[in-house]
Amino acid sequence: MKRNLREVAAMCGGELRMADDAELTIQGVTTDSRSISENCLFIPLTGERFDGHDFAADCLVSGAGAVLWDKAKGLPPGPAVIVDDTLGALQRLAQSYLRESRARVVGITGSNGKTTTKDIVFALLSTTFKVHKTQGNFNNHIGLPLTILAMPADADIVVLEMGMSGRHEIELLSKLAEPEVAVITNIGEAHLLQLGSKLEIARAKMEILAGLKSGGLLVYDGDEPLLAEVLRESAASNPVHFNTTTFGLDPQNDDYPVELMYMDDSMVFTSSAGGDSQLHLPLLGQHNVINGLAAIAVARYFGVSEQAIKEGLSGVKLTGMRIEVVKGRSGITILNDAYNASPTAMKAAIGVLENMKGYRNKIAVLGDMLELGPTENELHREIGGYISAGKLDRLFTYGALGAKIAEGAAEHLDQESIHAYTDKAELISELLSVLHPKDVVLVKGSRGMRLEDVVEAVKSSE
Ligand code: ATP
Ligand code: MG
Repeated sequence: MKRNLREVAAMCGGELRMADDAELTIQGVTTDSRSISENCLFIPLTGERFDGHDFAADCLVSGAGAVLWDKAKGLPPGPAVIVDDTLGALQRLAQSYLRESRARVVGITGSNGKTTTKDIVFALLSTTFKVHKTQGNFNNHIGLPLTILAMPADADIVVLEMGMSGRHEIELLSKLAEPEVAVITNIGEAHLLQLGSKLEIARAKMEILAGLKSGGLLVYDGDEPLLAEVLRESAASNPVHFNTTTFGLDPQNDDYPVELMYMDDSMVFTSSAGGDSQLHLPLLGQHNVINGLAAIAVARYFGVSEQAIKEGLSGVKLTGMRIEVVKGRSGITILNDAYNASPTAMKAAIGVLENMKGYRNKIAVLGDMLELGPTENELHREIGGYISAGKLDRLFTYGALGAKIAEGAAEHLDQESIHAYTDKAELISELLSVLHPKDVVLVKGSRGMRLEDVVEAVKSSE
């Protein structure tokens, strides 16, 4: 964002103070006092442990052109825009910048697959437009406005990931960004603890309608009946007209995959809504094909040609640590999905492993899925039960909840093939003792379980 100080003050509804030069051009914003660039605007946020205002003076010394300043904090240390609340001002600034820009907005929410879908949408739209997207996982009430403010002035489309952990968060993000296209990738069990039921999760995602532009498009997972139900509820109370399109495995959807095939490191399929051209997506798993279809619907809305969609899909690149195929030193194949886990994502990953061909043993290392609430034991047992007889050779679980996965798996696997651990070092040593270079190992668990330690150990084993 490039604006002079006077404009910045107007955009966020603040008042300029101690600024000698109201015409000074501000070059970008940051909330991080360690990444000050010449003439940037430093936005101090107040967190639980730190108050950014304490660093504002240093930021001005380091070259910041001005700071935002909460009026309750007394006198600013230099050129400042005085506001009621710096977070609200950051959001207003982003909204004004976006409204003044020519960029059309795509908002993506859902329990799983947001970042993946965002990356695929970016790949498809970039064949034809100048596109800006959320970096990494910057998907909350701070990351989203910062993403918008980092957008180049000449971007045609901005693709924004919208994350949440409770009700009314997506509503805020959607009202801020006013998407023309809104995507709901799916509904899973993530945040069940905070929201209480899957229906409430569906309602929380459907809040993306709150800012959807009139005449816009809602793209959603048609395999999830709760979404259709909640959509009826919301549409009744939403005065804005919009179109809808669904994707999923079910042939009832507006778009579904035909002739889906697993290759070594990619998926091949045909989109039912797009003629008979075979599409190649260099990611593994049926769930990624589904994310691909959501992205294709967005691309078609913007008029991207089928040929460009085909080319864009084959060049998709993801933001690291999602199901990633890694070769270990001994030649062993690792499916690194240690980034995060929820039941839906866990099942998707197990599906990928079960469909891998040409390996000696298929081994899953699964850790606790955290924050699932009172039904967590049941949800873990269910994952164990989901493992099909004959398709997996060994299961290692890590953690107290992981042990419930092991319990559930006892239905289909022999006891000798199931190894439950609460000590990671023991798990690693037992795992390494059974591994063979022709094996494939899936590693997945919640972030807090840090299963990347297992990935590293397998990778470097001889
Ligand atoms: P976060 O809430 O952490 O931002 P996200 O919604 O951005 O997550 P991704 O990072 O794209 O999701 O994927 C996270 C995990 O979810 C991956 O490990 C992947 O295996 C799984 N996943 C991705 N897409 C789907 C899907 N459509 N259905 C089920 N699981 C999925
Ligand atoms: Mg994400």
